[in-house]
Amino acid sequence: MPAAALAHVAVVDRQLCDACGLCMPLCPPLAILMRREGLVVDAAVCTGCRKCIAPCPVGALSMVQRPTQVHDERVAAA
Ligand code: SF4
Ligand code: SF4
Repeated sequence: MPAAALAHVAVVDRQLCDACGLCMPLCPPLAILMRREGLVVDAAVCTGCRKCIAPCPVGALSMVQRPTQVHDERVAAA
């Protein structure tokens, strides 16, 4: 996985998400989890591949810049 992809992570807007679950099996590393409080993206697992973004019918998923510390750990582990 290129470092450029790892520099970004998916986030969910829970105000928009209706918890349909469509995105969860589309995520190759299974980083999208359903919790009691709603959908969450595990930033430590997300590779930044963006495959979840377009399929969401309500546009609840988007990419943001990854916090520097997490980015550095993922690059170091690659
Ligand atoms: S596809 Fe969109 S609306 Fe459905 S669970 Fe995922 S983020 Fe929520
Ligand atoms: S960007 Fe890729 S790895 Fe991250 S949550 Fe979306 S589908 Fe999963």
